[in-house]
Amino acid sequence: MIDPFGRKITYLRVSVTDRCDFRCTYCMSEQMTFLPKAEVLTLEEIDRVCSAFVSRGVRKLRITGGEPLVRRNIISLFRSLGRHLDSGALDEIVLTTNASQLEHLAQELFASGLRRINVSLDTLDAAKFLAITRRGKLDKVFAGLKAAKAVGLKVKINTVALKGVNEDEADDLVAWCGRQGFDLTFIETMPLGDIGGDRTEHYMPVTEIRRRLEQNWTLSDISDNTGGPSRYVRVVETGQRLGFITPLSRHFCDTCNRVRLICTGILYMCLGKDDSVDLRPALRTSESAGPLLAAIDGAIARKPKGHDFTIDPGNGRPAIARHMNVTGG
Ligand code: SAM
Ligand code: SF4
Repeated sequence: MIDPFGRKITYLRVSVTDRCDFRCTYCMSEQMTFLPKAEVLTLEEIDRVCSAFVSRGVRKLRITGGEPLVRRNIISLFRSLGRHLDSGALDEIVLTTNASQLEHLAQELFASGLRRINVSLDTLDAAKFLAITRRGKLDKVFAGLKAAKAVGLKVKINTVALKGVNEDEADDLVAWCGRQGFDLTFIETMPLGDIGGDRTEHYMPVTEIRRRLEQNWTLSDISDNTGGPSRYVRVVETGQRLGFITPLSRHFCDTCNRVRLICTGILYMCLGKDDSVDLRPALRTSESAGPLLAAIDGAIARKPKGHDFTIDPGNGRPAIARHMNVTGG
């Protein structure tokens, strides 16, 4: 699939639920209204959409949410999608998770073909973790990470840089990830969804995190380009990869290779734009793949050139009304 700007679309991110057992302050408000269950695609329907994308040339799937691992029977989706890995049609399936359920699911995830996971972890301090997630237990996350490591899953930690909250922990996180053998990426907050507060208050540029880390660590540039909005370096002292995501930079749109499906069947062609295509009618009116493939092709033909995120200091309002838990990371 080639979009109107000549970009090859090979990566589909799939949010399988908007629900979550945490309420991270930058992602959700305390009182969230979740999508009615009746509007949410079944796991079989999600499989059909993913498989249609695979047949159109998608090589990588990321399963995200909400918290994907709180969706009932989610393992069955990983298992069924695994057939595309076996056939060679897909290069990989990856997962973004808060790791709260990983302790008991790591083994089955690995068995289904999963090899890499991104785990969101903003602090190594249990009290701070509870404050950021509003209900998360850090020891459960550590147990999940231990299980992931034990079964052989490769782990990357995603840390949202929050001014005045965890900016003092960057060195500790780099050292800890080094000891654990985990890669690490710092992410800037994105203006997605009303979170019941002013998010510019905690906005922290990752360039500043990098500048501070450079005082204690040797960071050598590497040319890894995963097609995403990250810049990677190698921490010479630990050997681990370290990334910095600056989603506010429009620069990355030129090489964007991805689209996003949310759990209701709506496809967003850009994280930073509201334009979308509802795939559910095509999915539900016909058993055959034809209408679904036509709807997908029509959507790709509408992929925009770029986005227009801004965090306007003094105006903490979201640039995009959707919450991150709906679109996924
Ligand atoms: N629940 C899973 C998790 O936390 O990893 C998957 C979904 S979560 C929405 C995906 C990623 O988005 C997480 O790494 C989270 O930290 C990040 N995220 C959520 N809201 C964000 C925001 N407003 N700005 C930047 N990153 C955000
Ligand atoms: Fe849940 Fe992930 Fe959002 Fe935190 S960032 S509330 S874990 S979906």
